Amino acid sequence: MRVVDGSGIAAGIRERTAAEVTRLTAGGVTPRLAVVVPTEDESTAWYVRSIGRAAERVGIDCQVHEVVGASGPEIADRLSGLSADSTVDGVSLQTPLPAGVEFAEMAGHIAPDKDVDGANPTSIGRLAAGLPTYAPATASAVVAILEHEAVGLEGASVVIVGRSLVVGKPAALLLMARNATVTVCHSRTKELAEVCGRADVLVAAVGRPRFIGAGHVKRGAVVIDVGTNPGPDGTLIGDVDAEAVGDLASVITPVPGGVGPVTTQILLRNTVAAAAARAELRPGTQ
Ligand code: NAP
Repeated sequence: MRVVDGSGIAAGIRERTAAEVTRLTAGGVTPRLAVVVPTEDESTAWYVRSIGRAAERVGIDCQVHEVVGASGPEIADRLSGLSADSTVDGVSLQTPLPAGVEFAEMAGHIAPDKDVDGANPTSIGRLAAGLPTYAPATASAVVAILEHEAVGLEGASVVIVGRSLVVGKPAALLLMARNATVTVCHSRTKELAEVCGRADVLVAAVGRPRFIGAGHVKRGAVVIDVGTNPGPDGTLIGDVDAEAVGDLASVITPVPGGVGPVTTQILLRNTVAAAAARAELRPGTQ
């Protein structure tokens, strides 16, 4: 079994992003990412800090907008304001949102050309239609890892457990676009273990610690663990019981150090792409 080096893959992306930031900054454009945080959730805070550190390392200006206690309309206003701010290149909305506030509705207030985490329903629609857009960073990270590991997707049976708008659904769209045969499972799926057991590639995005066990994995399958469940003492626990499936999987992503670091770098890469588009639009630049 090969354990994927997510941090190594992330480092490769980071190098290219840093070079692009250097080029843009020399031309007078500093890429800027605005992260809107409507929660005091500890794992969100951890993720936002890691985005901040990674951004600083490559020279992206990451601004965190704490809006804890804000109502839906107030969050929407903040997102609209950042979308209208010509110095901001990328806008990312973190979760969880206050009870009763719909993520897709809020994300609809992020301008599509700044929607670097592919959250606006317009971005998802463009993804579904096969049009250029920013895809959600986590879903893109799943695909980036599979491509880096040279996993054949053409005609492969891919099973995704989880149908969220940020992971499961966009991952299904990205993988279908690569000619995989995709099955998306969720909490009402019957015979889940049996369905998973047919997968050449199994993607776990469930949000339940060690939910996927040996009974879900075909011998030789590639297993991508998206889960980041809070464990004791600030540790992270994946959705896959890595110990149990270790003898069966041919390739597996660890938690931490798998999908997470690649996700962060893709978010930054998208921000820099948005900044490059802004630079091209500036009068007097080519
Ligand atoms: P989510 O919105 O809570 O979605 C979870 C999905 O899992 C839902 O579709 C749900 O089905 C399904 N599910 C729940 N219990 C199930 C069961 N018993 N059997 C089958 N399916 C079940 O979660 P998410 O935002 O997609 O995140 C999933 C995991 O990925 C979490 O651990 C999260 O922390 C992690 N994550 C990691 C990154 C990263 O960068 N590494 C980024 C984002 C998220 P229903 O639709 O029927 O409810």
